Parts: sequence; C-alpha cells; structure tokens
Amino acid sequence: MPRGLLGIEPLDRVEIESILDRAKSFQPQQTAYKKSDLLRGRMMVNLFFEASTRTRTSFEIAAKRLGADAISISASGSSVDKGESLVDTLNTLGAMHPDAIVMRHSASGAPHFLARHLPTPIINAGDGTHEHPTQALLDARTILDQRASLEGLRVAIIGDIAHSRVARSNIHLLSKFKSQIVLCGPASLLPAELAEIAPGVTLTHDIQEAIRDADVIMMLRVQLERQHETAFAASEYFQFYGLRLEHMELAKPDVIVMHPGPINRGREISSEVADSQRSAILNQVENGIAVRMAVLEKILCN
Ligand code: ASP
Repeated sequence: MPRGLLGIEPLDRVEIESILDRAKSFQPQQTAYKKSDLLRGRMMVNLFFEASTRTRTSFEIAAKRLGADAISISASGSSVDKGESLVDTLNTLGAMHPDAIVMRHSASGAPHFLARHLPTPIINAGDGTHEHPTQALLDARTILDQRASLEGLRVAIIGDIAHSRVARSNIHLLSKFKSQIVLCGPASLLPAELAEIAPGVTLTHDIQEAIRDADVIMMLRVQLERQHETAFAASEYFQFYGLRLEHMELAKPDVIVMHPGPINRGREISSEVADSQRSAILNQVENGIAVRMAVLEKILCN
C-alpha cells in the first residue's frame, strides 16, 4: 500500500481484503466499542473543502477510538477563505507535522497533486467526481456482512453516475472481485464511456432491468451541486429513477439496499424502502468507522 490512500483503482485484491478483514475486527461487539491506544501520540488532521457530516465525523471517531489526536478544519472559516492557495494551506499544516491528512476537495485529483508535494500521507475523503475510497471499502464491508463473497454478485448502481465518486470507487472495487455491475440512470447522468471503466460493467436506462435479480442495489444522490445543466424536477426523477417498494419484488428476496448518504427521500429513494428491513444504510454508517479505523491503523502504524 502506498503511504496514503488516494483511490481504490491502484489497490490490489490482497490490499483491499486486508483492510476489510481488519475492519471486521473493529466492528462493535453488541453496541460497545473498545477504545484502544494503538495510535496514541499520532495526529490526524481532517481538512474538508466541501461539506460533510458523516465522513468527517466518522474519520474523527475512528482516530479517537484508536487513541490518536484528531483535528478537523473546514475550509470556510479557515485561511482558504482569505485566499491562501491549496499548496500553501497544506504546507502550513504539514509544518505542524500531522501523521496523516484526510482531505476532501471539489477538484478531482486534488489529493493526488498534494501527495506529490507533501511528505505527509494523504487519505482521500472524496475528490470531485473521481474517487471516495473509504466509501467503497465500507460498502464492501457492509455487503460482506451479509454475503460470503463479492464474486458473481449482481450489483445495480442507480442514479447520478456521471457526478459520483462513490460510483467510481465502487466500480473499481467490485470489478476487482468479479461482481457484475449494472449502472443505471437517465442518459444525461450515465455517460456511455463508463462501460469501459472496468471489466464486468453494463449500462441501462431502465431501472426495472437494473434491479431484476440484483443482490445489491446502491442508490446515489443526484449531485445538484455538480450539475451545470437544468436538473430534473424531484417528482419527475422519482417517477423514473426513484427506488420504491414495488421494485423490490424484482430483486433477489434478500437484496441489500444501500445509499452513501445524504439521502433525499422522495427524490432517489422512498421512505418505505429507506426504512425497510432490506435497507443497510445505517450499517454502512457503522461500518464507516470500522473501515476507517483499519485504514488509519495501516497508514499511521508504519
Ligand atoms: N457522501 C457522498 C460523497 O461525498 C455521496 C454524496 O454526497 O451524495 O460523495
């Protein structure tokens, strides 16, 4: 594994499996988490140039559970607002000698650029429309809590694929484990070239076709903040691409419904489905901490 974690694409199966296995050992027993001091004396800085609740909090909790110090900085209210460049901000933080910087940025490739300039390991917490590696790892952990293997699973990823870093990281991960991946969305949000991104990917505009026999359904938020065209009205989008109870009968009876959050009820998913027995949305949040503990341990313990 390189010094930080920039994406899923460069990782091999062994590296991914070792994080997923280790994350399992960090899952809470019943509801109690054990606090450890594996990373005592280490410091992680969260640097978020885009809004986030779950990812930022999840990294912070993961670091604290391992005994590390965690500091979170959001771009608004920081010197970035005063015109400081990305490199200067990161150099300033680097001079405080954190052991890792967890970074989210609206520009695809921003963490890769900084990783070339800074000695500190960088963990990508989402870069533009490119990757969100810990999301794909926590999604895989969530699936593997209910299935013996990812191999051969039919996974439907539905929604705004064009703007989704979650979709890209999941496609890379699932493809390495030979899942069948069906991408589904309206033509404007499903670029044809995504069929070539990795082996095992097919495209459809028909939600029913995507869901038929699915083992896993991953719903995506419509990323209004990244769309430059006029967006669909919520009701119109929901009619064609919203996941509703009636769709569930098309999937495998034990289908796992996932969503990276934040969810928009009535836009991409109905409340009945989001709150149903098949929904693993809160398991994903829970696994987010366990997976990030495994990632932080791997990067900070070296
Ligand atoms: N939280 C995810 C992300 O940061 C998904 C989303 O925002 O829709 O990409």
